[in-house]
Amino acid sequence: MRLQDKVAFITGGARGIGQAIAMVFAKEGANIVVADVNFEAAQKTASDIEALGRKAMALEIDVTDYGKVEEGVNKILDKFGKVDILVNNAGITKDNILLRMSPADWDAVINVNLKGTFNCIKAVSRPMVKQRSGRIISIASIIGLMGNWGQANYAASKAGIIALTKTTAKELASRNINANAVAPGFIQTDMTAKLSEDVKTKMLKAIPMAKLGTPQDVANVCLFLASEESNYITGQTIIIDGGMVMV
Ligand code: NDP
Repeated sequence: MRLQDKVAFITGGARGIGQAIAMVFAKEGANIVVADVNFEAAQKTASDIEALGRKAMALEIDVTDYGKVEEGVNKILDKFGKVDILVNNAGITKDNILLRMSPADWDAVINVNLKGTFNCIKAVSRPMVKQRSGRIISIASIIGLMGNWGQANYAASKAGIIALTKTTAKELASRNINANAVAPGFIQTDMTAKLSEDVKTKMLKAIPMAKLGTPQDVANVCLFLASEESNYITGQTIIIDGGMVMV
């Protein structure tokens, strides 16, 4: 049990990669807070976690709303008395080429992916500083490292997460709080299921391992970053992409 009795707050934890992280952490002994805009789906994931014998709490939180995030963190502290791990996973895409991208679609993606991550880090940092311990893991993307046609908003949000992670790591290191990011490539979820066959074929050609990753592949790296095995790692971004981007 690598996360025995730890309390993990996972945004967008109802489905996809967030759900896989929630299940992997629970199997390693953590109690889980599943925060999502989709409350019904969050409750379903929470009951799957309880079936494993762990404590779980579903929270309806839109990460763009700082007030709701802070309220959620207070509820976690009331129920569990601490928050050990934050996983910033909630994320959306609204793709279009720059010329056609509306300011509203720019704002929507930056608000959920980047401001949402800031909101959650800010809300947990006070209790983590008081505890003198904490792990903050944010889900960036290889798109934040290399850019992508049609994803100006998404690429900027994910690059922002990487810079925010480095700043958080520098500010909180002396309080025994590690902040790291992961940068997945193409992972099999509803987000990538939307892509056309043509795009998927091109994508596979660019991946040396010639296959998409799974939510479990991402969850396993997050487990490492949440566990004591990564005690001396902070401010880093770990790429999980079958070899697509090599830096
Ligand atoms: P999904 O769309 O499958 O799941 C995202 C979850 O986040 C959903 O449950 C969604 O709710 C929730 N969510 C959306 N907006 C908010 C919000 N404002 N507040 C709280 N929760 C919200 O995405 P993935 O699992 O594919 O992706 C998870 C993360 O991984 C994202 O940050 C994504 O950018 C990143 N990523 C994904 C890759 C991939 O290939 N799939 C590659 C690289 C990074 P609802 O169901 O209502 O939409």
